[in-house]
Amino acid sequence: MSFATLLASCGNDMPVAQLPEIDTTNPLLAEWNTPHATPPFDKISVSDYEPAFETAIAVSRAEVDAIVNNPAKPTFNNTILALEKQGELLDRIASVFFNLLECHTSPEMQEIAMRIQPKLTELGNDVSLNPELFKRVKAVYENPGLFLSQEDKKLLENSYKSFVRSGANLNDADKELYRQYSSELSQLTLQFGQNSLAANNAYSLNITSAKKVAELPDFVKEGLAMEAKARGQKGWTVTLKAPSYVPFVTYSSQRDLKEKLYKARNSCAVGGKFDNTENIRKITTLRLKIANLLGYERYSDYVLDNRMAEKTETVNSFLAELLSQTKEYADKEYQTINEYAHSLGFEGDIQSWDWAYYSEKYKNEKYAVSDEAVKPYLELENVKQAVFMLANKLYGLEFKPAEGVAKYHEDVTVYNVSEANGEHLAVLYLDFFPRDSKRAGAWMTEFRSAEGDVRPLVSLVMNFTKPTETTPSLLTFDEFTTFLHEFGHACHGMVAKGKHGSLNGTSVFRDFVELPSQILENWAYETEYLDLWAKHYQTGETMPAELIEKIVAAKNYMAAYSNIRQLSFGLTDMAWHTLKEPYTGCVEAFEKASMESTNVVPAIEGTAMAPAFGHIFSGGYAAGYYGYKWAEVLAADGFSLFQQKGIFDSKTAAGFRKLLSSGGQVHPMDLYVDFRGHKPQTQALIDQMGLKK
Ligand SMILES: [Zn+2]
Repeated sequence: MSFATLLASCGNDMPVAQLPEIDTTNPLLAEWNTPHATPPFDKISVSDYEPAFETAIAVSRAEVDAIVNNPAKPTFNNTILALEKQGELLDRIASVFFNLLECHTSPEMQEIAMRIQPKLTELGNDVSLNPELFKRVKAVYENPGLFLSQEDKKLLENSYKSFVRSGANLNDADKELYRQYSSELSQLTLQFGQNSLAANNAYSLNITSAKKVAELPDFVKEGLAMEAKARGQKGWTVTLKAPSYVPFVTYSSQRDLKEKLYKARNSCAVGGKFDNTENIRKITTLRLKIANLLGYERYSDYVLDNRMAEKTETVNSFLAELLSQTKEYADKEYQTINEYAHSLGFEGDIQSWDWAYYSEKYKNEKYAVSDEAVKPYLELENVKQAVFMLANKLYGLEFKPAEGVAKYHEDVTVYNVSEANGEHLAVLYLDFFPRDSKRAGAWMTEFRSAEGDVRPLVSLVMNFTKPTETTPSLLTFDEFTTFLHEFGHACHGMVAKGKHGSLNGTSVFRDFVELPSQILENWAYETEYLDLWAKHYQTGETMPAELIEKIVAAKNYMAAYSNIRQLSFGLTDMAWHTLKEPYTGCVEAFEKASMESTNVVPAIEGTAMAPAFGHIFSGGYAAGYYGYKWAEVLAADGFSLFQQKGIFDSKTAAGFRKLLSSGGQVHPMDLYVDFRGHKPQTQALIDQMGLKK
């Protein structure tokens, strides 16, 4: 079936696009007559991408033109659905290309990305800023007709909202202002990022006395010596970058050096050549102006209108509640470390630059669990079967090696995933091992999302240690929980059941998307699950219960303290983004006031983290940092139902599967309450952290 007929078949009043010539000798443009229409990786060459992109972009433009120029009255089918369907050819090419750019890249692919990206951005802007297209969308939104399903209504609402949120509904003068603010904002956020990087790079601390580094582990010393050498210095050099700074402050007892480093790190980009304080005032002011222009009182109101939390007040009271529930425990943890330091001869109060050193020492004494003790019980092949088993016990899913599906690298394995009754559900690619062409980290992605009867192609990309001829791949406990986490995202994609791709699987609000992944991590700590399969790969012995207890205790070590730190970031983020007037005062003072309620370790005059807080000033987390904690509460509260009913309880699992398969078709709060029986409760997270009176 060609894409033109595909479009035409979606509804009888669908517009028919005048498509450009399509070169079907290009495997990216040809039909994929492969098992489950999987990408023909074995036939695709790097040289196929660019011409395929060019064609697909032209096809997309033709499809959008056909919607805009349709003489028929705007309807859901000929406008909203047609818009949802347009770009399918481009999507499948972009999915292959951008996924491989992350996990199997090459210099040629990177050059293609540099050339193609601006064209894709331009296409995106031409669609979202097209006034004629918006006119049609708005006409349908205002007059949707009587027969739309709940799912179709949601698609219509999302489509309309995404135009409006980008200023489509403004009058011409305000549109011009919106454009001006947005472009100034993107310049400033870029400048912010460059300044904080430059300020971070500008500082280094050179140490020439061997005595002062003698206590450091060899790997730390070697790193610092290499840094010094690279700079043509003698001795050892510490920088403000995490891989240099963090191990130094963790293992060094040199208080004066750590104080210098701490103060440098927490005042970089405050004043001087790379000052970001003025940028912060300008960025928050522009965001406020954009929000006002779009009809919101504060920037947080604008952001949260598109989140599960919905309202500024909800987020503020959420953060305040968690703070009041955990502050006293964090203070106690501080006292514990203070007393421990005193027992080692430390005098006075522990300061921020002392914390890492003493808390690490204390952890090693009380809660040490070595990776080497755990790894023999977590042989990768066995873990993989155990993860499949979990999906089987919860949802009845079956995993069978897929025959005849092309792979992009020989290390990849492919599975067909089916329902208990044999019905095909998804194709799952597993790409476990590191290689030069793959970036670091672990992630779930898709080569195609579910859409009606079209089933998804889901992929998990990891960086686990590769087996050798004599030793199988053995995972650390962290790697095991990472596997479960990403597999949770994969389940979201695999069980997706909805007509519209943009409302399926992981296409949900950002403060909701980590629930399916984080909740699955909980099974890692359940003996009932581990006892079924976690056996020593040589002796066959079951993982000892004491070892599991130790792992849980280590997980909860200083949980309240880390929780308070996260809350302090969330609170300062909200303070900046709930301004109703531009802020013209001192950035350090603003931050101090916004974080005061979270002080556990004494605050230090003249420091401020905001000027280097890229997440909220140059990244996408403005009025969104709370989301980390929000997701933790959802996962803890959600899992507590499994703990009450049984971790494999079929009714509870069926309820959770319903939430997964609904994707973004229903508001996440409704989905959650439907599953859990109540709104998320913070107490579940407090219990999970092991905080007891
Ligand atoms: Zn995740």
